Parts: sequence; C-alpha cells; structure tokens
Amino acid sequence: MDAPAHAATRPISLFDLKSEQASFGPELRRRLDAVLAHCQFILGPEVAELEERLAAYCEARHCIGVSSGTDALVIALMAEGIGQGDAVFLPAFTYTATAEVPLLLGATPIFVDIDPRTFQIDPADLARRIAAVRAKGTLRPRALIGVDLFGQPADWEALGAITRAEGLFSLDDCAQSFGATYRNRRLGALADATAVSFFPTKPLGAYGDGGALFTESDERAALYRSLRSHGEGTSRYEVLRIGINGRLDTMQAAVLLARLTVFDAALAARERIARTYDRHLAGLVETPARMPESTSVWAIYSVLLPGPEARARAQTALKANGIGSNIYYPCPLHLQPAYQSHHDGTPLPVSEAVSTRILALPMHPGLAEEDIERIAAVLRAAL
Ligand SMILES: *Cc1c(COP(=O)(O)O)cnc(C)c1O
Repeated sequence: MDAPAHAATRPISLFDLKSEQASFGPELRRRLDAVLAHCQFILGPEVAELEERLAAYCEARHCIGVSSGTDALVIALMAEGIGQGDAVFLPAFTYTATAEVPLLLGATPIFVDIDPRTFQIDPADLARRIAAVRAKGTLRPRALIGVDLFGQPADWEALGAITRAEGLFSLDDCAQSFGATYRNRRLGALADATAVSFFPTKPLGAYGDGGALFTESDERAALYRSLRSHGEGTSRYEVLRIGINGRLDTMQAAVLLARLTVFDAALAARERIARTYDRHLAGLVETPARMPESTSVWAIYSVLLPGPEARARAQTALKANGIGSNIYYPCPLHLQPAYQSHHDGTPLPVSEAVSTRILALPMHPGLAEEDIERIAAVLRAAL
C-alpha cells in the first residue's frame, strides 16, 4: 500500500477497480488458479457455472455468456434475422454500441428521445417514432433496443405495452444495469432478450471484455449458443448458420464468479453513496431522479448543471482538486458523424439539451462520506 494521503487532498477517481479488488482478492486468486490448473480456457466449467449463477440471480430461464455487451446485442439481433430494410428503435442518449449494432447488420437505427429527469428512453416519443416510420412506409419496424441507462431500469411496463402492440422484438440493453430491479424483479426477464456487459467499469465488471444474454425462450437460447460459436450445430464442425466468435472466456468467468461474492455488498455501498450525494448536493445541482418502483445499481451517478459554462467550471475545479469526473454523453448519437447520415433529421431536444448539462461524479463502493463532502464543497465553491 502507498502511504495514506491526507483525506483532504487524496485524489478521488471516477472508478476504482483496485480498491474493489481488495474485497475479493483471495477468492479471485483461488478461481484463477483453478483455471490455470485445468487449462480449459474456452467454455471451461467456470462459464457454465457463471451462467447458472447469473440466471438464478435475476430469475431468468437462460443465461448465455458472450464476448462483450456489444456482441450480446449483435447475437440477439442476428437471431431475429434483423437486417436491410428493418427499423430498430433506440434512445439517442446512450453509448455508441447500441446504435452501431443494427447498422453492422444493415438495419436502420431510429433514434428516440429521453425523459428529461430520468434520462431513460421516453415511451411516448417511441410511440411517435414508430407511427412516423409506419406512415413513411420505407422501413419495417422490427425491434426496440431499450437501454437501462446509468444503472436504472427503463420503463419496461410502458415499453412492453408498445412492443407487444406493435409486434416488435424487445431487446433490453442492460449493459450498465445488471442487478437493478423494476417492480421487485431483477432486470433479465423483462424483454424478449436482455444483453449485459462485463466491461471492467460496469457494476459487475470482469478484467477484460465479456457479456451475457438472458432470455426466457428455449429457442432463442439455443440460437444464441449456436451463434456465439460460429453457428455450430450439434457438433463443432456442423455449421448451421452464419455466426461469430462470440464466447465468454473462462478467465473472465472466473473473475466474475469471484466478484459475485461481493456484488450485493457493492450494490448496497453504491446505493448508500448515491443517497449521501443526494443529501450533500441538494439545492446545488439537479441530482438524478429515481425511476419509480425501481432500484439502481448506480453504474454512473450523473448530475445536471445549469448549463455548459457551469459544467465547464465544475469540471475544472474538480480536476484541480484531484477529483475525477466525466461526461456521459457529450453528443447524442443522432448528431455523431458516424450516425448523422442515418438519421431522418427529427430534432431530439431532450437528448440534445441534457448532453450539454450532464456530468458524472466519482462512483465506486470505496467512497467514504468525507470524499463526498469534499466533492460537494468543491462544487459549491465553483458554482
Ligand atoms: C458498455 C455498453 C455497451 C457495450 O458493452 P461492451 O461490453 O463494452 O461491448 C452497450 N451498451 C451500453 C449502453 C453500454 O454502456
């Protein structure tokens, strides 16, 4: 350990994978040693064990470990045969992977606006965007990718009512939010399929890339297993369909099994930290609104500043005090160079405004109340 820095000047990082590792170090080493002993690095026993644990954790029928959250989205859309001429609806205010995947498959992303307080996809705007695509008649509405942003669930009851009425495949991009609950149910079984990411800084992060798909459907689960292994059939050398190399590797499954032993404690700490922030920041900035009847895993704790100048002042002051911050997301996807030409030009005013005012503050289970008091004091002095 480094010599303890004084609490008033110690740097506070946005994420802190090192301090989290300390909480499950012995179990991590035991798990990694087991893999080094058996050397089944691809689809070893840890992958199946993890799939069982995660399915049980979120009460989903099937869990299929895959190579990343992005590949989970790819496999889910491939399994539905989504491609050219298909419209895939998704929020404009999300990580690029959500929009990249339909485009990779030749489909067209249709960007939907978000709720100004919760930042989650706005079901009313989704309904309007579907009606507009139907009226125009050039694309077939096929799927919704709903995103559970920053650790909170999207409004899956409202979204499900729309996807069922419209006959759309519903895919939950739960990359940031594994472990969150909606009306007392963990995310994982609220859409036709649920995609999770184990990118290291996600709440359940591995030590490399990884992801998982969850579904209640036996047919989809079998397809996902085939697609993650090059479209294989009952034997590895029977090729039934075009697939990808999209497997979760054994080392990452071992890391995740170790990390799962402290996951509930980490989620409790994140909730406590979020409440501490809410208390210290009340009246100073807009603190994040909770989705009703839900719990959050606080992948990201983002506040709204009055405007871009105040946000720049806040970021400069935080940086000068050794405190990490970041903007998720500085530009909504429909305005990104890569996606602009795929967008029909409809303004998405909430996504556009939120991207100029939002700021993520440090969020990890190792934060102490003093750290949050210090962050609040720096913000108070800057604003
Ligand atoms: C992280 C993330 C992804 C992609 O996950 P990877 O594991 O990095 O491929 C997809 N969607 C959202 C919303 C994400 O935050």
